Amino acid sequence: LFISFEGIDGSGKSTQARLLADHLIAKGRDVVLTREPGGSPGAEEIRALVLQGSPDRWSAETEILLFTAARRDHLERTIQPALDAGKVVICDRFADSTRMYQGLSRGDLRGTVDNLHRLMIGVEPDLTLLIDMPPDQGLSRALSRQGVEERFEEFGEDLQKAMRAGFLDLATEFPERFIKINGAQEIDAVAADVARAVDARLVA
Ligand code: C5P
Repeated sequence: LFISFEGIDGSGKSTQARLLADHLIAKGRDVVLTREPGGSPGAEEIRALVLQGSPDRWSAETEILLFTAARRDHLERTIQPALDAGKVVICDRFADSTRMYQGLSRGDLRGTVDNLHRLMIGVEPDLTLLIDMPPDQGLSRALSRQGVEERFEEFGEDLQKAMRAGFLDLATEFPERFIKINGAQEIDAVAADVARAVDARLVA
């Protein structure tokens, strides 16, 4: 089973991915918890190339190629071997983040992202948990934990608003795999909703 978490910056994806991993491990599942960009040694190197340094270092198109290259390495080295071994893979962001960030934030490049995805990746998660929350709430959380490699320039509220709307549109576009979770609740309540959604899928 391949599960991804998506949502705007500061929505609590990473925390929820970790809590879901704990939940599934407690139920005796073999779990691989991973993240994008990154998740394999090569992909982590590409993450550093893209996220550190000035935002205009790469054109939007080059950035799509770099994220897709990172995803290909992550898929080959980490995700596919784990799925083949029957493990549950939990990924903090996957291709939907590229559809949003690289596909929408620097012009309309969604078609390019999708074409490249079809050509080089071809895999979608079985389940995508969209942690949805109001942009101002995500923004204040994201700003409170800014790290060295975060992309400060992208934390504008307008971008957060566009990304939230975009993710909600994606959930409508791919209803078979998207589950929307209310991320504006207490962490434990969000985690309980996530666990319920995944447990339902595991018995199905
Ligand atoms: O999810 P995480 O906090 O690790 O993402 C790091 C940064 O990379 C975030 O600021 C996010 O907006 C950005 N990002 C991006 N394009 C992606 C994935 C993440 O610009 N495809």
